[in-house]
Amino acid sequence: MQSLDQIAAAIPGYDPNALQVGQAQDFIARLVPRMTAVESLALRSALGRVLARDIASAIDVPANDNSAMDGYALRSSELSQNADTLISVAGTALAGAQFSGPVRQGQGVRIMTGAVMPAGLDTVVPQEFTRSDADGRVRIPAGVVKAGDNRRLRGEDLARGEPALQRGRLLSPADLGLLASLGQAEVPVFRRLRVAFFSTGDELRSIGEALDDGCVYDSNRYTIWGMLTRLGVDAIDLGVVRDDPLALAEAFTQAAACADAVITSGGVSVGEADHTKRIMAELGEVLFWKIAMRPGRPMAIGRIGATGDKGHSAMLFGLPGNPVAVMVTFYAFVRQALLAMSGASPQAMPLLRAVSEAPLRKKPGRTEYQRGIVSPGPDGRWQVRITGAQGSGILRSMSQANGMVVLHHGQGDVAAGDLVDVIPFDGLV
Ligand code: AMP
Ligand code: MG
Repeated sequence: MQSLDQIAAAIPGYDPNALQVGQAQDFIARLVPRMTAVESLALRSALGRVLARDIASAIDVPANDNSAMDGYALRSSELSQNADTLISVAGTALAGAQFSGPVRQGQGVRIMTGAVMPAGLDTVVPQEFTRSDADGRVRIPAGVVKAGDNRRLRGEDLARGEPALQRGRLLSPADLGLLASLGQAEVPVFRRLRVAFFSTGDELRSIGEALDDGCVYDSNRYTIWGMLTRLGVDAIDLGVVRDDPLALAEAFTQAAACADAVITSGGVSVGEADHTKRIMAELGEVLFWKIAMRPGRPMAIGRIGATGDKGHSAMLFGLPGNPVAVMVTFYAFVRQALLAMSGASPQAMPLLRAVSEAPLRKKPGRTEYQRGIVSPGPDGRWQVRITGAQGSGILRSMSQANGMVVLHHGQGDVAAGDLVDVIPFDGLV
């Protein structure tokens, strides 16, 4: 296991007091351990979980050539080029009920979608192109089909032995279907990541308590719980912890013992008078960063609860206290880290290019995340406008938004009409 200093040495230009977002992401990617514990789950329970092994197909999917349409199966060699073709019907092939009788010259088989192609027949004429003649024969106009049309080939979805899904994949509804088509009833997935979280600050009150003078309700535990739940990890809520050394030490120790990662909010700002930073540093190996970003400048990162090189240690993400900063730093750093810890292959955040409806002020030399509302523009492009006041304590700006405008490190002012990058909230986790 590398020390934090060793990891820092591998990051070009590393400066904990002016860290760029990309450098912090790089650092965290090198720091976090990958899940190794595997469990086997029934297919449906595996939705949203991370596949722990490559899955190869044990069968050809589909297992037989079959029809893609309702119509008539025939030999393409018997289709006339310039005149109608007339066939008589030798029988019917249904999905799940093969036709195995003889098909003589001049004959075809009535066939339904999904039915196995009768031996020797290679082409399906869709029902709507055909007419029934008075003598019961089926008339097919010239040129409506070519050899092989409307036939699905054995193994065309997946041939036996072909890799179907790769380890590290977050299983989607389509993946469940694919696994079912292989006949796979159980799926090997990584154990769910356990993430403990708590809020720090003497001014915080939990909902249900009276709001004393000078206090605020703890909202971070709710946004964090929501983001963790969407991410599919086990979220362990350890409540609000008072600014008291013993209470903090107990909370950190308990969190590190029961979880793979610990997320805290508050108490990591520069010049913070409370005990959070000191206790973190005492109980673990922790760095205190100032990140060139807005919102979300202060952040603590490291391992906590390690006793020598024995004993269990958990990743620590000490997020700032401001409610918007919590969400922004979660999306900028923690989300990707927790996915990696869960065993998932890197999942890029989807980016949308949208036209900024108004000019935006931006100082080069830091990454800014402004909350925005993306909507379809008049010219078919996406457009985005910023949601009101962008103070890092104004959670409403986040709640109204449907995405975050990312103004990159080197970027300066944006003029109305310029294209900007937006991370849409939908599909984020
Ligand atoms: P801190 O980083 O501890 O200095 O907190 C910065 C600001 O965020 C202060 O105004 C805190 O009251 C506020 N804050 C900290 N934690 C929370 C929380 N869990 N819920 C709501 N506001 C918080
Ligand atoms: Mg505080």
